[in-house]
This record gives sequence, C-alpha cells and structure tokens, in this order.
Amino acid sequence: MRALLFESFAGPLTVREVPAPDPSPHGVVVEVAASGICRSDWHAWQGHDPDVVLPHVPGHELAGTVAAVGAEVRRWRVGDRVTVPFVNACGRCAQCAAGEHQVCARQTQPGFTHWGSLAAFVALDAADVNLVAVPADLDLATAAALGCRYATAFRAVVHVARVRPGEWVAVHGCGGVGLSAVQIAVSAGARVVAVDVAAGALELARELGAEHVLDGGADVPAAVVELTGGGAHVSLDALGAPVTCANSVRSLRPRGRHVQVGLLPPGQGRADVPMERVIALELQVLGSHGMAAHAYPELLGLISAGRLDPRRLVTRELGLDDAPAALAEVGGRPGIAVVTSFRPRISPTG
Ligand SMILES: [Zn+2]
Ligand SMILES: [Zn+2]
Repeated sequence: MRALLFESFAGPLTVREVPAPDPSPHGVVVEVAASGICRSDWHAWQGHDPDVVLPHVPGHELAGTVAAVGAEVRRWRVGDRVTVPFVNACGRCAQCAAGEHQVCARQTQPGFTHWGSLAAFVALDAADVNLVAVPADLDLATAAALGCRYATAFRAVVHVARVRPGEWVAVHGCGGVGLSAVQIAVSAGARVVAVDVAAGALELARELGAEHVLDGGADVPAAVVELTGGGAHVSLDALGAPVTCANSVRSLRPRGRHVQVGLLPPGQGRADVPMERVIALELQVLGSHGMAAHAYPELLGLISAGRLDPRRLVTRELGLDDAPAALAEVGGRPGIAVVTSFRPRISPTG
C-alpha cells in the first residue's frame, strides 16, 4: 500500500509502498478515505512522542470503510463506513469500566503506538469498543476531522469546561482544534474571544462566530480581561505551548476554568502556570484528551441537526503526495487539511 513514512525524527517525509496491515483478532483494517493532518502528527515526526518507533507512518484522524475484520469482532462488517477516536481504548481496564475510554490505561493510538492513517489502509484495535458508524449524510472528509480535533474540542468545551450560555470563552490558538472550539462554544451560547498570531486564522474565527479576535503578539491576558469585563469564565489552550498555556490561565476571572487541549511535550519547555493565581482566584486547571467513542452520538446528533457544522473547518482536501509539505507547514494555513486521495498523482505526459 502507499503510505507517508519517515525513518528518522524530523528527517525526510516520503510517500512509498509499504506492506499493508492485517487485523488483530479484536481489530479491523480500514481502507482510509480521509485522514487529517494534525499538529500531533507533526509532534510524532519531530520525535516528541516516546511511543513512536522508527520507521513510522503517522496519521490518527481518519474515516474510511472496513476492509478486513478480526475473528473476535462482533459489531462490524466489511464495507461499514466508520471513524474512530484517536485514543483506541482497551475496553477492559478500570478507566474503561468507568466509561473514561479517553484515558484508558492500555490504549493504542494509530499513528503513535503503531502505523497510522496517512496510508491507504490502517489497523485499529478493539474495534467493538472504538469504532463509530458514520451517518450516511456525513461525508468521510468531515468525519475524519471528528477523530481528533473536532471531537477533542467538543469534549473540552461541553464535557470538561461545561460551558454555559452567556459565559465568556477565550480560545488561545486558532488551528483546527481552536477553530472547532470557537464554533462549538458559540453554538453552546458562549461569547468567544479568539486569539492567534495569524490574521487568516482570526478571520476564520470571526466567521465562525467569535465576538472578538486578538493578535497573540499583544498582552493577551490584559486584553482578554478588558474585553470580557474581568476575565473569561473558561479559557482553552488549544495550541499547546508554554506561552499560550500561561496566557490562558492568566486570562481567567475568579473561579474560572482553564482547559489544556493542545499537547505540551516537555521537550518544547514546561509551561509556567501561575499557581499563586490558581489558589488566590480558586481557578480550575483541567485536562482534556480526546473523546470516547460512546460519547459520539451526542456530537453526531448536533451535526445532523445542523447545530454544529464541522464541514466549515475543512478548508483543504489533498492527495497523499501533498502530505509531506502539508505536515512540514502544519498550522501555516487556516483550517483543517485532510488527505482524501491515496493514489499516485497523475503526472503530465511528455
Ligand atoms: Zn482500557
Ligand atoms: Zn490530532
């Protein structure tokens, strides 16, 4: 099969033929129809994830069609249209028993713990626990975005922050997950301040309903406090950088909730969280890590009802041959880029 591969961290990204996977007894192999290019793929390539073993195929934000089914799988058949959260839970540990699949103690992650979905086929573990049927009216490019960025943003805003109508929500970093959070928070009735260093990302944030947009080069906490009349009720670090994390915590009003959504690999520096503010203002510092498959029906229902529209976040559809450049410049263009063609690019004759 064709796949995007790297053989050294931060080394060349190449598209080449590699062996296709077989399903494990409880797993499936999915023929990938769409795979998003996400900042966490970039972290895997840069060597920030200790799970990644070389050579490696990244990709964890996917949708496609079941192509092969393990002997123990009960709920899925060849031909089913599916997506999957990037955390594939084991279904058997204490966290899974409590329904908290997103923090499963024995999780696997395509594109991190094994080869991922920037390839024609991908193997997924524990299919009965993790696969999500894609409704007929949802295209697979949009469904792919649910696997990481959109579902992560949904859980962060709705389940972890528990945003209420009328609250101010500050979103620090308007890449795919940040823009998703803007749309979801607006839909939940919140008033949104969006922060980014790129004008194009801020323009898209405004189109998605942000009431204010702020240049990340400014004194962001002071500006958020000013715009919101005392600080945000909820603030999200949707980028994952020491500066956006600290800005997010400093943007909050008393008793505000910070949610860490973007990955913060220690290799990029530890965030300097002002714990004196956390105690004095009774702030909450919360983490949000993907979303369990069993929580998808609520999200899919809101999409189907037209209350949420993740299609608006998918700004580019690419061929696999475009993936190396897109991964190298991740975050450089607004919106979510999704690979939707895995065939070789047809080169002009002569
Ligand atoms: Zn588990
Ligand atoms: Zn991701």
